[in-house]
Amino acid sequence: MITLSPPQKLIKLKFIKVKSQAGTHSPSIETIKTLIPEIDIKIDACFLSNPFATDLVLKHFKKDFIDESRLREVLEYYPSQNEIIAQHISKAINIRPDSIFVGNGAVEIIQAVIHNFVKGKLVIILPTFSSYYEFVKEDLEVAYYTLDKQKDFALDLKDFSDFIIKEQTDSVVIINPNNPDGNYIKQGDLTSFIETHRNLKNIIIDESFIHFAIEDELMELKSVTSLVEQFENLIVIKSMSKDFGIAGIRSGFGAMHPSRVKSLLRSGYLWNSNGLSEWFFSVYSDKTFRDEYELIRKRYIHGTLEFLNSLKTIPNIKVYPSMANFALIELIDGTTAEDFVFKLLIEHGIYTRLGNDKKGLSGQFVRIASRTNEHNKEIVKAIRKIFQEASL
Ligand SMILES: *Cc1c(COP(=O)(O)O)cnc(C)c1O
Repeated sequence: MITLSPPQKLIKLKFIKVKSQAGTHSPSIETIKTLIPEIDIKIDACFLSNPFATDLVLKHFKKDFIDESRLREVLEYYPSQNEIIAQHISKAINIRPDSIFVGNGAVEIIQAVIHNFVKGKLVIILPTFSSYYEFVKEDLEVAYYTLDKQKDFALDLKDFSDFIIKEQTDSVVIINPNNPDGNYIKQGDLTSFIETHRNLKNIIIDESFIHFAIEDELMELKSVTSLVEQFENLIVIKSMSKDFGIAGIRSGFGAMHPSRVKSLLRSGYLWNSNGLSEWFFSVYSDKTFRDEYELIRKRYIHGTLEFLNSLKTIPNIKVYPSMANFALIELIDGTTAEDFVFKLLIEHGIYTRLGNDKKGLSGQFVRIASRTNEHNKEIVKAIRKIFQEASL
């Protein structure tokens, strides 16, 4: 069992105070560096992103902005309006531009959708990404459907459908793959679910981690986005932060019926995207970029699968099945999640995500992101080491 020394406990208390100011999200690396200089973060395995994709975006950034005049334009002028940026995205994902709403990160879209379209009762699956329940206002009723740890947090769509009918809900949210457990519903099964629940007012599918999910060796990209043209009640939300490694520029989009996009645009969001996000989406619309990205996406998935497999060889933890770019682990030797997280952070500079503030997760849970292959190896080595030292 891992325990902290008295000085380590003090750093932990300091961190918890900083964390409490970030609500249910994690404090940024910048904030930690400034407020807790004792902690030297070497590997960020808390934020969930594909580091190779950041490299690729950075390569294009340097190429496109080598000439200062273009950068000056981004700084000096207003970015394009929502409908113009949607045209770039339309080229990349092959749906009509008027079905696309561009957001300042997916979080803005979650907020817009919940505040504008969701009335009556909403079903949220736990554990989940906290914004889904945090943006709920008082007039909206929420019914929680909690995933079973004994079933490895797998979502049984049949049982979930029964729950929806029993609750007489208007709207549901499904994150696929889910955050924080990484469970994945196959595209075919999700499509059947959407077909079955045509009568719901809103089916919200969050595909922020879909680029990491694979169904076979072909590793094709799966998505239900194209179904928005067929099902008026379907809203697909997509963050670009994780799979393109660009949380800093706040890019995301929602795919939905054109009447919904129109109604959102009428209520504001005129210049909600910034110039860098517009630039990114113009790069994304280019087929050559997307081909380069495909290679990187697959390379990262291979690395992630290897990482998950080596985590599974550590006896003191249980690794839950994941089709996302992270592992949800449970400590099964009596170590608390806090002691584990702070031991890794203070002694090895490895920053992971405590699971204890996640609704619907009870037990000692930690979420660990997959990074580069070298970093993944260091993470596994460090975890082995802290358990070995604890058993001496
Ligand atoms: C991170 C995350 C988001 C928010 O993404 P941003 O585009 O950075 O705002 C939305 N949904 C889920 C499930 C996430 O994990």
